[in-house]
Amino acid sequence: MPSSLLLDSSTLVIQCPHCGHTEPDDYELMLPDCIEQMRCSRCGGVFHFALLECRRCASESVFHWLHRPADEAIAHLACHACGYSHAQDEATEPGAHAGA
Ligand SMILES: [Zn+2]
Ligand SMILES: [Zn+2]
Repeated sequence: MPSSLLLDSSTLVIQCPHCGHTEPDDYELMLPDCIEQMRCSRCGGVFHFALLECRRCASESVFHWLHRPADEAIAHLACHACGYSHAQDEATEPGAHAGA
């Protein structure tokens, strides 16, 4: 797949938080804005990860947790490339600063 070349400039990789092993073959399992569970193929440890697609710069960032976070936690994740978060998206809506 030629689009894999685009990953060259990013750190888009699933990495086991238990042992640091990377799982480069599971991108297709990743759904944007969803928290997924995975078992490390090296140490067997279970961890959770999420793929966040930035709404501002369109970069994709991967986040890892040892334990499953709350679903809303993903809204507070910040883009690795530009620092943008979905939470900011809601906070900076036009008129959001008015009245409050
Ligand atoms: Zn591991
Ligand atoms: Zn971004």
